[in-house]
Amino acid sequence: MRFSDIPGHEGVKERLRALVDSDRMPHALLIHGRPGVGKMSMARALAQYIHCTNRQGGDSCGCCPSCLQHRSFNHIDTHYSFPVLKKGSETVSDDELDRWRRFLTESPYMNFGHWLSLLDNVNGQPAIYVEESADIMRRINLTSHGGRQIVIMWLPERMRVECANKLLKLIEEPLGDSMFILVSNDPESVLPTIYSRTQRVEMLRLPDEAIADYIEQKYSMPRHDALALAHLADGSILQADYRVQNIERQQQYLDLFMRLMRLAYQKRVAELRVWANEVAGLGREGSIEFLAYCLEQIRENFIYHLGVSSLNYLTVDEGRFAQNFHRFINERNVLELTSRLEKTITDIRANGNAKIIMYDFAVRVIMLLRR
Ligand SMILES: [Zn+2]
Repeated sequence: MRFSDIPGHEGVKERLRALVDSDRMPHALLIHGRPGVGKMSMARALAQYIHCTNRQGGDSCGCCPSCLQHRSFNHIDTHYSFPVLKKGSETVSDDELDRWRRFLTESPYMNFGHWLSLLDNVNGQPAIYVEESADIMRRINLTSHGGRQIVIMWLPERMRVECANKLLKLIEEPLGDSMFILVSNDPESVLPTIYSRTQRVEMLRLPDEAIADYIEQKYSMPRHDALALAHLADGSILQADYRVQNIERQQQYLDLFMRLMRLAYQKRVAELRVWANEVAGLGREGSIEFLAYCLEQIRENFIYHLGVSSLNYLTVDEGRFAQNFHRFINERNVLELTSRLEKTITDIRANGNAKIIMYDFAVRVIMLLRR
């Protein structure tokens, strides 16, 4: 992994490069940010840069023996540590290296659900157990031959307290030239004793343009649709993947949304009841997801109504519907439509009767559309 393989984050790359080039790299670095922005890739690119024997233009060369070892996850001085499921008396990540390499290859943006499925337990609660710290020390000692030893730890927030206490010593009094790169989705849950001893680097959300590039390339999707999805991905490649993989569901939501608005406009109350039952049939999570989709569509149509359609993020199909529909969403109803939707989500969350709640909402839409 080279810095140039990672989309965006130029400021972070610059800062890390400067730390290495000026030999000011701390013993423990904490790279944090929301899931799916490329933190693990950054950690790997940094380790490869540190080890590269032929750095050029602020990046690793990608072809020296060290870079080649990094590419195949076999670099002798790079040790991965990550949450695993409890097995027997000793549970350490070194035992799961094969699955780990597969994970890094298949899911470079570190989809936690994918890791669970590779561990053969989608409901598992993997952790970094107490034995891990001794094993990290063993691995460092075993390979120590003067090179810079780097431990890349994924999700330090899943480290057990006993493990953290032992690891603390290693961070405070490093063995030889060893260093830690911790990669966290949730730095506030990292034990304070560890957290306070790290230098922090935050990776922010990726810009929509960068996400759209990714979608366009990976899924060969037209630019316009890629941008619309990128906007919904909230700066995360993992969210973008999720959105793309759920396009069919999105189409279903659009159909339901259009039907609601048409039936409400025509005051077809009996058919609205059928509609409400259908939405309720999506189940609790499905209904909530659909209502969140409605919120997005109401917002987008209001923006359209304001005449700033350049700010719109709609797919081709959504845009087609909005062409006529946008004139029904205006200053007189947008706030109440929004708060009604939010209240409906709250009611469904509270396990209310979804059929009644959805029907009640649909009937209110009749009045709101006439304002
Ligand atoms: Zn190299």
